[in-house]
Amino acid sequence: MSKIGFIGLGIMGKPMSKNLLKAGYELVVYDIIREAVEEVVAAGAEPAVSCREVAERCDKFITMLPNSPHVREAVLGPDGLLEGARPGSILIDMSSIDPLVSREIAGKLAEKGVRMLDAPVSGGEPKAIDGTLSIMVGGKQEDFDECYNILKAMGSSVVRVGDIGAGNVTKLANQIIVALNIAAMSEALVLATKAGVDPELVYQAIRGGLAGSTVLDAKAPLVLAGQFKPGFRINLHIKDLANALAAGHEVGVPLPLTSVVMEILQALKVDGLGDADHGAIIRFYEKLAQVEARKH
Ligand code: NAD
Repeated sequence: MSKIGFIGLGIMGKPMSKNLLKAGYELVVYDIIREAVEEVVAAGAEPAVSCREVAERCDKFITMLPNSPHVREAVLGPDGLLEGARPGSILIDMSSIDPLVSREIAGKLAEKGVRMLDAPVSGGEPKAIDGTLSIMVGGKQEDFDECYNILKAMGSSVVRVGDIGAGNVTKLANQIIVALNIAAMSEALVLATKAGVDPELVYQAIRGGLAGSTVLDAKAPLVLAGQFKPGFRINLHIKDLANALAAGHEVGVPLPLTSVVMEILQALKVDGLGDADHGAIIRFYEKLAQVEARKH
């Protein structure tokens, strides 16, 4: 089994890379933060000093980076993956980025005979730790088939949704639904609280009905406990909604609800909560209504 490269060892990349080690893959890892590399090396990986070195030592390499500019830099920049990659190797970009940038990077890689899948994930840190992420993949069927087992070591659902870029289009759809759900939950729990009803009991009463959802079950307990440690940072959700709005405008789809939640996120960022979990959307409503929706 050839070694797999893993670049980007943050909230998501760390547990995902550790799950690959647990599944028996040999890993070569890199991050610009040295402590992150040291932590995954302590779990059994080998360190590299650049993206280029990762590509020189592996035929398949995964990136899990914040946004489009970071992936462009890691792949096409100086000492990047493209410089070290051999023809026939495969980049699996698992970051959530602009689908148009996925296509642009895939085009540059193809000139050197390097293949690419865009394979963003949903499920957040808990599912990254459990290895039960939902992975939505764009790229050629044969490349998908070749990488399926690797992806399965990190996720319980691995679905090919189309050609390159389709994974990130699917992720944008996912992020719209998640953001709007958290905003709806926040609006409702703040209303209940100020109307004198215990928001924890409201949550318990409605979670089994039509308003129940994976988002509600993941976020309501944390919000009601006043826990806003990320998780998924507000700044990253701003990035995803910015990509969604850009893609929507590009193809001619107005996204009115997404734009409202985007402005709520922008207000929270101005309020110093950019690095808080996106469950902190409730803080926006709490400030408007001058009440805190917390478990008693
Ligand atoms: P993070 O900021 O915690 O981690 C990103 C890592 O990339 C950091 O360790 C950073 O040092 C590293 N990095 C940045 N530029 C680099 C470069 N040029 N070379 C090497 N390393 C570099 O972010 P995260 O929460 O792990 O998210 C990663 C991606 O996954 C994002 O696109 C995010 O939208 C997506 N995502 C996150 C979650 C979540 O719940 N956190 C859920 C689903 C998807």
